[in-house]
Amino acid sequence: MYPWLTQPLAQLTRLIVDQQLGHALLLKGIDGLGKRELAQHLAKALLCQHTGVDINATASVPCGHCHSCQLVAAGSHSDLHLISTDQRSISVDTIRQLTQILSESAQLGQGKVAVIEQAEKMTEAAANALLKTLEEPAGQSSIVLVSSQPERLLPTIHSRCQPWLIPVPDSAQVLHWLAEQGVATDNAATNITALNVNQGSPLNTRHYLAEGVDQRRRELLQQCAQLRREPQLLNTVQTGLLAQPVHIVWLQLLLQDALQLSLGLSTAQLRLADSEAVCRDMSELGTAKLTHMLDELMQWRRRLQPTVGRPVNAGLQLTQWLTHLT
Ligand SMILES: [Zn+2]
Repeated sequence: MYPWLTQPLAQLTRLIVDQQLGHALLLKGIDGLGKRELAQHLAKALLCQHTGVDINATASVPCGHCHSCQLVAAGSHSDLHLISTDQRSISVDTIRQLTQILSESAQLGQGKVAVIEQAEKMTEAAANALLKTLEEPAGQSSIVLVSSQPERLLPTIHSRCQPWLIPVPDSAQVLHWLAEQGVATDNAATNITALNVNQGSPLNTRHYLAEGVDQRRRELLQQCAQLRREPQLLNTVQTGLLAQPVHIVWLQLLLQDALQLSLGLSTAQLRLADSEAVCRDMSELGTAKLTHMLDELMQWRRRLQPTVGRPVNAGLQLTQWLTHLT
């Protein structure tokens, strides 16, 4: 298990062993913290045949060698149900099937466990179909909802779940872990920037550093800053920014840092710690213009939220916005 999850895992396992864990748990926290792995580990602990046998044995739950633990490890436990999708939403039919399965008796006698990843993807009808089961689960069933955007869940879902926030780990701990993973660079400013760009998420930062995304971020932001002098870069910048939603976050950080410099604040707090020159270049736009651009960008970003769907004229809106820079 990841080092920053050791403590939440121990606390949650203690609750399971003491039978204090609610039958509906909502694990929340930003992307890239390992919530999925944690939920699966909890599911294994809930189903382990040794859970409840020795109430002092938190460290050995799940035991890893009982029949149930072996079936979970093999991905073939008939009482464990995982809802996970790459689609935009989790449908009402999927949830109805799940609630039907949960209402049947468990085959191994330890109750049934359902894990719903990216629970915020449930449609309103799907969420409503889950309410009754969350309130009155059949038998010993437990439901673990996992979400990095819990604000998108209905209040009625929140009120029926025991909330558990996985905090963003301390940056020193993550930087140490990234070094152990062999992805940290020799440049401290680069590592800190990578972490900031990924909102402190260890797994996303590891991916970002390992896949050379850092290089792409530098290029793209450099081009944004050059746009004033080289307007012919407009298409390149627009295509680059629209390629991934996270690229807009990069741009936002650039503007925030530039604004900070234009206000004469310390460079010690720059989020793009390794890109002071680009931030300084951008800061020449002046405080008023940067504030206005940042405001517009934030509004535009909100409209690009996945629930609403990317507007068909996203490219056009971005082009209009980018003309501030040309
Ligand atoms: Zn076991």
